Amino acid sequence: MRAVTTKVTQARFLLGARSFAQFPPDRGSEVAFAGRSNAGKSSALNTAAGQRSLARTSKTPGRTREINFFELDESRRLVDLPGYGYARVSEVERRRWAHMVERYLEGRQSLHGVVLVMDVRHPFTDFDQRFIEWCRRLHLPGHILLTKADKLSNSRAQAALLASRKHPAMQTDRFTLQLFSAQKRLGVEALHARLGDWLNLHQSPLRKKRAPVQHSGGRGCNRG
Ligand code: GDP
Repeated sequence: MRAVTTKVTQARFLLGARSFAQFPPDRGSEVAFAGRSNAGKSSALNTAAGQRSLARTSKTPGRTREINFFELDESRRLVDLPGYGYARVSEVERRRWAHMVERYLEGRQSLHGVVLVMDVRHPFTDFDQRFIEWCRRLHLPGHILLTKADKLSNSRAQAALLASRKHPAMQTDRFTLQLFSAQKRLGVEALHARLGDWLNLHQSPLRKKRAPVQHSGGRGCNRG
């Protein structure tokens, strides 16, 4: 687990892309973070990376509509998808957003999983359900962070977790779910474990020698 934490905390901003052509080469593996704006996505990314302002760079003017790539090493990346649902965004802009994100999800061979950030007090918005449906259709595994858990008592947070597990949108075995709080650093280990699975960060050098690493033959092989 320490290997995962060490690697994830090395994240650094690579580039912001406004179109497919600007994406970094589609090699290695990456995990994308998505969420409704204000759900707590930047805070979750920063907490995962142990950095205070990693994802804030993406919020400087002009960057908010971009897909931002953060590099852990030459073959592993975290990706910050633009937040959905800014109040003053026009329908045209909304459609542009949907097109870009859907194209990214569909076309990105190195994408091994998505982290969907939802406010524990307002989970499964229309956006969230649509996003889960996209992922289901694309056979993309996902992990949901029910964040801002510190805003609820322990028992209410647990009840929200149980209710979310039973939500109709969760009738897919490719999505897992956990409570999270950036403020209290709750659930960071569980998130790192999931990132470690997708980015193949769990193996120690010794184990790597003994057990051959699975090679990615395409996205189908890696998504699961
Ligand atoms: P984004 O738009 O999804 O990237 O959301 P941000 O990460 O910028 O967070 C939106 C607001 O929620 C900010 O005021 C954060 O300080 C707050 N926030 C984010 N995560 C947490 C959390 O775990 N606990 C609490 N109490 N507030 C949070």
